[in-house]
Amino acid sequence: MTTHGEPLDSVLDTVGETPLVAVHAAPDDVPIYAKLESFNPGASVKDRIGKYMLEAMLERGDVAPGGTVVEPTAGNTGIGFAVAAGELELDAVFVVPERFSVEKQQLMDALGATVVNTPTEDGMQGAIDRAHQLAEELEDAVVPQQFSNPLNAQAHAATTGPEIMQALDEEVGAIVAGCGTGGTLMGITKAVREEIPDVHVVAVEPEGSTFGELFGRDPDEDEYKTEGIGTHDVATNDLFEPDLVDDLLTIDDRSIHAEMRRLATEEGHLVASSAAANSLAAQHVAEGIADGTIDAPYDTVVTVFPDSSERYLSKGVYRSFEEWQG
Ligand code: PMP
Repeated sequence: MTTHGEPLDSVLDTVGETPLVAVHAAPDDVPIYAKLESFNPGASVKDRIGKYMLEAMLERGDVAPGGTVVEPTAGNTGIGFAVAAGELELDAVFVVPERFSVEKQQLMDALGATVVNTPTEDGMQGAIDRAHQLAEELEDAVVPQQFSNPLNAQAHAATTGPEIMQALDEEVGAIVAGCGTGGTLMGITKAVREEIPDVHVVAVEPEGSTFGELFGRDPDEDEYKTEGIGTHDVATNDLFEPDLVDDLLTIDDRSIHAEMRRLATEEGHLVASSAAANSLAAQHVAEGIADGTIDAPYDTVVTVFPDSSERYLSKGVYRSFEEWQG
């Protein structure tokens, strides 16, 4: 349990218990609350799985102290795992497709981890394959594999979900979250559905992503600049359970870019593209609840702001849309 009122032993003790803050752009009568995950020590939602998964894997004997964790990651997971690995006496190696932000890779390096790049065109699957190959070459190495390891979603079912329920006195009408692995949305949903079976659950992806295939749609696959959410190959998203999801919202990069700036200038949130996608999707859901087109058990929408925009300044997130798109 995190407490900021007394001295703590380790940064790991500061993971979780992040603030839940109202999004001002919500319609009257249907508040939206965002969990501000940049308050974690590695400044993203992924610190939660870093701590939870590595502690569980050490306890189960999947890896011993002194062993190595090898993970394919777009970046934030690497930082989360690197923070935890350092504190839990594990080495860390991260396999990152080249297109992801240099800030994240520098932070992993600073935390003492090794970063291995794979070609952008090989996608996440290329990084996953390389991670398994590296783990076989090393002694006492394990691949936590956030894309398929149930511990990922369990981390959120054990922490993020219960924190939200407690903060809102168990009155949650809808949960809205972008999905990369889907761990955040699936975990929160499982925790909340135990108490509120009919909570309305909405997954979010950028336009160009193909989660729609899991909902009988025929999405146009394309590149997108929004980082951390979406997929180009649903076969890698083992944790994503479409049966838990009432709707999937797809948001375009241009709207996401405008919302990132709006959140900063109008609401003081220095949050990144996936948070902006979540904010727009949450506003859409809140409006649906307000006008009666969406049935929800309570007039309250919860979402997640996964990380900070500072991590993407080199990518021009606050420059013009065209500059961000590169
Ligand atoms: N936003 C950002 C910035 C992320 O790094 C991630 C993780 N890929 C997500 C959202 C999505 O989280 P999850 O993997 O739990 O679906």
